[in-house]
Amino acid sequence: MIRQAESLFGEYEWERFDLLVLPPSFPYGGMENPRMVFLTPTVIKGDASGAQMVAHELAHSWTGNLITNKNNEHFWLNEGFTTYAERRIVEVVQGEDIAALTIGNGWRGLNEAVERFKDNMEYTKLKNNQEGVDPDDMYSRVPYEKGFQFLWRIEHQIGRPAFDEFLKKYIATFKFKSIDTDTFLDFLKANVHGIEKDIDLQLWTEGTGIPPDAHEPVSNLYIKITSLANDFKLGRIPREDEVASWKGQEWELYLNNLPRAVEHSQVLALDARYRLSESKDYDVKVGFLQLAISSRCRDYYGEVEKTLKEVGRMRYLRPLYSDLVQGPGNEEDKILAKRLFAEARECYHPIAQGVIEAIFARHV
Ligand SMILES: [Zn+2]
Repeated sequence: MIRQAESLFGEYEWERFDLLVLPPSFPYGGMENPRMVFLTPTVIKGDASGAQMVAHELAHSWTGNLITNKNNEHFWLNEGFTTYAERRIVEVVQGEDIAALTIGNGWRGLNEAVERFKDNMEYTKLKNNQEGVDPDDMYSRVPYEKGFQFLWRIEHQIGRPAFDEFLKKYIATFKFKSIDTDTFLDFLKANVHGIEKDIDLQLWTEGTGIPPDAHEPVSNLYIKITSLANDFKLGRIPREDEVASWKGQEWELYLNNLPRAVEHSQVLALDARYRLSESKDYDVKVGFLQLAISSRCRDYYGEVEKTLKEVGRMRYLRPLYSDLVQGPGNEEDKILAKRLFAEARECYHPIAQGVIEAIFARHV
């Protein structure tokens, strides 16, 4: 991974690269401290899919730690570039199909984030105004995934060899500096002549929502999984031979593309066949529990309670608590959510506590 990252960005400048796995209350997937990345223990999944997160935190050694956003209003410069680099590393170490799955999962996440912010579209801009805003309130997949899409769009426009050359020059020019979006755009226009005629740079960086030239990945595996997810709407559960080679990322993509709410019998049948509620991969388990909650299939609420009490990673807490308190006719679930939070609160990091309190403030 380090070799691949060096071939993208140039030499690794920090001498050592260590990983420290923290207790389950660590609120993030990872944190890119120079020389020693912190990781959630949920990265250990029993297969290689956790490698994606290591690739992400490693890539921050260049984008984020060598070049840093001037302030949080340009956070996409850290996360968009890092998400792009993460997928280039995954492409080399796990193959193009897996890289396409991570792009597809990201695409879902971006669409959900834009939907979540439909009443506050400022939060869907790459470059945004955060005056008076708690950064944790507006934290979302937008800087990661819209940032990724923007860079991917530029790569498609100019071709990979030219884009790789541009990336290396960008790092070499701005390393050990803090920059903002305009600095990046000026550098892009100076080095890729005429780019502003082919891509609406202002729409991408200052516009709301998802630009029309953003797109889903193209890969046979991706198309197959999303079409199986569509079949579920018609009541068809994938056959065992269709999922024989699936690992965490395949299941995550499948679950992400299911309808939000289905019949209880469908939830139960899916789990009876594949035991997703017992997965050791929290991305799979929580994806399934979200389907159960939004379908109000209370057979799984014991598992929801167990999960909320054993991990404090916001990636899991946020959707589980949100799904419990959102939507009509769920007074019972709101009471449950409040009880679980009261019992689990002391085990969560203060940032996670604040995020859940903000969810309750909006919906309860
Ligand atoms: Zn990151």
